[in-house]
Amino acid sequence: MDKISPQQRHNKAAIKQEQSNTCIRSTYGRLQSKNSAECEQARRSANMAAIRSKDTKPEMIVRRGLWKRGFRYRLNHKRLPGHPDLVLRKYRTCIFVNGCFWHGHDVALPQMENGEWRMDNSKCCKIPKTNREFWVAKIRRNKERDKEELRRLAAMGWHCITVWECELKPSKREETLDSIAFTLNHIWLQDHGAKTIPYPKQDEEDIQMPMAAEE
Ligand SMILES: [Zn+2]
Repeated sequence: MDKISPQQRHNKAAIKQEQSNTCIRSTYGRLQSKNSAECEQARRSANMAAIRSKDTKPEMIVRRGLWKRGFRYRLNHKRLPGHPDLVLRKYRTCIFVNGCFWHGHDVALPQMENGEWRMDNSKCCKIPKTNREFWVAKIRRNKERDKEELRRLAAMGWHCITVWECELKPSKREETLDSIAFTLNHIWLQDHGAKTIPYPKQDEEDIQMPMAAEE
């Protein structure tokens, strides 16, 4: 499933793009669309191909923000599960920049209920009412794949940070980037055995501290 070469991926994206263009043109009446749900699917799939391709905007925000804060990384590491968007070897950390819709941000993994997949909308992941079943299945697969990839990376000793698109909107961006930087530094300290000095217990403190002379 994961063994698609970049060329195949590109071709697939190009086909989707073509379908999407067809659909867009059809809305202007120059072409007839057989099925509007199909059209919607093609359009969303083309968007997804564009979103997952490299150099997308949210990913660029994270890259620039971390670079500016002195972090260095590799991009789209092909040999790691899930091809993490950024890989910081020094911190043994992978960063995924996820679109809220495609990766179902704040949405519980859909559960089967009465023969149907149940999935509730969240603030930033709203499933279109048209062709809902299709979208639920797609997002469920993405979420399951994400979970499996994180599990595999953790088993290989990698830390993973997931950054959501909604956390990168202008009002939250700097705070999010600072928090990633903080987490990375924390991970580094933990991995390099920096021990925090425990605060002395009350009785030890009493013994060690010089007593003030009483009047
Ligand atoms: Zn979100």
